[in-house]
Amino acid sequence: MAKLLEGKIIADKIKEKLKASVQSLKQAPVLASILVGDDPSAVAYVKSQAKIATSLGIIYKLYQLAESISEDELIDLVLKLNTDVSVNGIIVQIPLPQDIDYMKICELILPNKDVEGMHPTNIGKVFFGRAPLEVAPCAAGLLTGRARIVACTANAIMELLNSTGIDLYGKEAVIVGHSQIVGKPLAMLLLEKFATVTICHIATSKAGKLQEHVERAEVLIVAVGQAGLIKGEWIKTGAIVVDVGINRLNGKIVGDVEFATAQKRAAYITPVPGGVGPLTVVILMRNLVEAACAQQS
Ligand code: NAP
Repeated sequence: MAKLLEGKIIADKIKEKLKASVQSLKQAPVLASILVGDDPSAVAYVKSQAKIATSLGIIYKLYQLAESISEDELIDLVLKLNTDVSVNGIIVQIPLPQDIDYMKICELILPNKDVEGMHPTNIGKVFFGRAPLEVAPCAAGLLTGRARIVACTANAIMELLNSTGIDLYGKEAVIVGHSQIVGKPLAMLLLEKFATVTICHIATSKAGKLQEHVERAEVLIVAVGQAGLIKGEWIKTGAIVVDVGINRLNGKIVGDVEFATAQKRAAYITPVPGGVGPLTVVILMRNLVEAACAQQS
């Protein structure tokens, strides 16, 4: 029976360090959060961000905009927040309305306020193998040229993998899902640990090859958003399984992996909820504290 990889336990340890870092800052860090429309999962994520921010002494400023807002109006707000010296970090919640280009907005946020790590400068540093070493908040930036800010979910997954104590060197790591926010940055972070990385996506499934890739995964990360996509019996015995997916099924939140059967085969597995999610939001706050540190020093 697999051990549970519970994000909350790691998140609590990071929160303790963050509280101390926040107290050492000249001013309480400020996170500007832009929510367009009222998508239920975005609203829930905003509530959880606000709660955790407040518990850490971070000021969380929510900018709630109507679904009908134009791209230009959203750009104006981002540019205003870029120049507002009292704001240390900016996050734009997704999903955005279809006629607003998310990546265009991400590129407009100043790299040193991009707490989600989605600006090309921050992504670029990760792709050039310059992810931060594992150090306390406010120290990473001292390592010249390294990224201060790494995509939150990908970084949360790396924290979970680190917590197993298993060396990823030479391990077969298979990622299912190649999104900008999860699969792509994660592939680079795993590569830095010398894992052998395979990225599967919709074409892998359409070619009928998903099962064969999953079956040889010693480390499996799934970020698709389809309940039960990964069958429990596909899991390699002793694998580490990180299920990023969040799906609502029969009134319950479930992941992308069939949990009960997968748990019998894996060595470690994340529960959904309670795995990646609680850690992602704390990593977001760590990125903010890192950004505030750089701006106030
Ligand atoms: P996304 O942008 O929609 O990406 C989904 C990925 O899955 C795409 O690369 C897509 O490929 C691929 N895909 C779709 N159907 C597939 C199939 N049948 N077989 C293989 N690959 C398939 O989603 P995302 O933002 O990465 O999020 C993925 C899931 O993770 C969602 O459930 C989301 O709620 C969850 N999530 C959780 C957290 C957390 O902190 N817990 C954070 C972020 C996301 P194509 O693009 O080629 O179609």
